[in-house]
Amino acid sequence: MQKVSETVHQANFSSHRETNIDELKRTFATGRTKPYQWRVEQLTALKQLIQENSNAIILALHTDLGKSETESWLTEIGYSIADIKGNLKRLKSWMKPTKISTPMITQPGKSYTISEPLGVALIIGAWNYPFQLVITPLVAAMAAGNCAVIKPSELSEATSALLAKLVPKYLDNAAFKVIEGGKDETTELLAQPFDKYFYTGGEQVGRIVMAAAAQHLAPVTLELGGKSPCVVDGETNLDVAVRRIVWGKWMNAGQTCVAPDYVLIEEKYLADFSQRLIAEIKKQYGKEPSQNTDYGRIINQRHCSRLINYLEGENIIHGGKHNLDNKFIEPTVVIQPAASSALMQEEIFGPILPIITLKSKLQILDFITAKPKPLAAYVFTSNAKFEAEFIERVSAGSICINDTNIFLVNHDLPFGGVGTSGMGQYHGKCGFDTFSHTKSVMKRSFKFDAAIRYAPFSKFKLML
Ligand code: NAD
Repeated sequence: MQKVSETVHQANFSSHRETNIDELKRTFATGRTKPYQWRVEQLTALKQLIQENSNAIILALHTDLGKSETESWLTEIGYSIADIKGNLKRLKSWMKPTKISTPMITQPGKSYTISEPLGVALIIGAWNYPFQLVITPLVAAMAAGNCAVIKPSELSEATSALLAKLVPKYLDNAAFKVIEGGKDETTELLAQPFDKYFYTGGEQVGRIVMAAAAQHLAPVTLELGGKSPCVVDGETNLDVAVRRIVWGKWMNAGQTCVAPDYVLIEEKYLADFSQRLIAEIKKQYGKEPSQNTDYGRIINQRHCSRLINYLEGENIIHGGKHNLDNKFIEPTVVIQPAASSALMQEEIFGPILPIITLKSKLQILDFITAKPKPLAAYVFTSNAKFEAEFIERVSAGSICINDTNIFLVNHDLPFGGVGTSGMGQYHGKCGFDTFSHTKSVMKRSFKFDAAIRYAPFSKFKLML
């Protein structure tokens, strides 16, 4: 079998002489990545990488996904910089030992925990936010004092190539590497004994990653997807609701893991809601979204065909126009697709929004809870009782009330799925913890060494 090092060399993907993880293991073993100062230096260098190359990043994202400059700043560049700043600000306090109370029987003594880095992490990214989805886990791995290999998605080719070019220029080369490639290269990487596997992508590959991590008994975080429902209570502020739904659904042309996958609404509100939704789509993307530079493109023709096929035989009430050559699909709204349709069976991950109507709020909650647990769940409501019921009944990675994807802006909120939408979480302190081992320490005093615990045991001792 071809070695990762050979593959990378032949394809001229990376300038490193050694791409095997051995070098990173050796670096980690020296202890160089552990001090606070090294972590700060690397985080600062990464921030500099982003700031000094923001134009190149914008260009790569535009090449891969037709992303607008504003969207690239909001969801990839600015997002990553804010994350690094947050880590720099709080790293010192995260690295401090945490005091734990000590029971009477072990006193005098003290107990505490220390977060120690796991070692060498493998970070595998997806193509939809191809920069941010490897940088944010890298920030967490770095802050926690690990070495890491990052493997960007091969589908977002321009961003992957840019990362492979920039990372060696800015970061500690003996601690961080970019390895480019697809299935074959990832398969080889997965065979190597990393100390942590962090994967973002679809469910099917998630199972492969988890099986690989099991071979090494290494911890794994799976950031997967799913069908995130968006419930609209017809009696709430619909003007604001549609604005936020259009924003969350059609940013990145619907290719967002937490985008509202479909809308659920009571039958009686359908006409009013859909009218407002369509008006808002036109307002945000104009009558000709194909001419609108704020509107992105589908990653490749395979995914574009997949999405176009979803539309066959469906009741399209807005949009539907597409151009496979340009990887373009209009913002599209479909009503009442069958439960058995591909649109309702698979994660859409594109610019098509189905609306499903049901008779009551109770039916809506039953509908969601009968499905696999989603990565996110949204509810727009002004009804406190319904809000509480939604939070209580719906199990999802995250819940956002009265908005959509915006919850990701809060770096302090742990982010990750549950059930088939993933396992493990990251962002902020949670990311630091994800790449750390919480080591327990107890220190005993030599004083008061009670004889009762030592053999030979006797009734007399117990009475003392
Ligand atoms: P993808 O095709 O880019 O694959 C993800 C990664 O897996 C890539 O790096 C790829 O090279 C690698 N890979 C592909 N096939 C492989 C194989 N057989 N063995 C080993 N590695 C392999 O991305 P995708 O799977 O199309 O991603 C879309 C999914 O990701 C959606 O379900 C989406 O919701 C989810 N997603 C989740 C998050 C999150 O943060 N939870 C973010 C973005 C996307």
